[in-house]
Amino acid sequence: MKKRMILRFKRNTVDKPIVYRLVKDYDLIFNILRANFSPRADSMMVMEIEGEEENFRKGMEYLKTWNVDTEPIEQDISRNEARCVHCGVCTSVCTPEALAIDRKTMKVIFNYEKCVACELCVKVCPVKAMNVFFD
Ligand code: SF4
Ligand code: SF4
Repeated sequence: MKKRMILRFKRNTVDKPIVYRLVKDYDLIFNILRANFSPRADSMMVMEIEGEEENFRKGMEYLKTWNVDTEPIEQDISRNEARCVHCGVCTSVCTPEALAIDRKTMKVIFNYEKCVACELCVKVCPVKAMNVFFD
């Protein structure tokens, strides 16, 4: 099986080799799609994880022992650039700041690397520029 997951790490665990053990102990292969680390706050990583179902389950159980929150991603987010009118409404709901105003150009920048696919921007965008795709 292969799944995209959001992993949220507590601030005091960011320097620990937690993820590495998914490979070593649970025979899981992973690909880091996005990562947002901070030594002073909780950190987040979006990973594609592949392996046997039982190993996957055990690997997720192992992450829990480190207080890592795991959440599967069933969807993906994109922006229709032609539709976006840069009104800025979406920036007020985007907690990871994947949508943010560039103060120089006053345009709204979509940083896909930071997006955790919460879909809040999809709900608030007045011109339906933000789209959700399901796997
Ligand atoms: S709410 Fe929609 S139109 Fe406004 S900046 Fe965000 S994506 Fe663009
Ligand atoms: S889906 Fe959530 S995290 Fe991604 S851009 Fe929209 S509001 Fe931000």
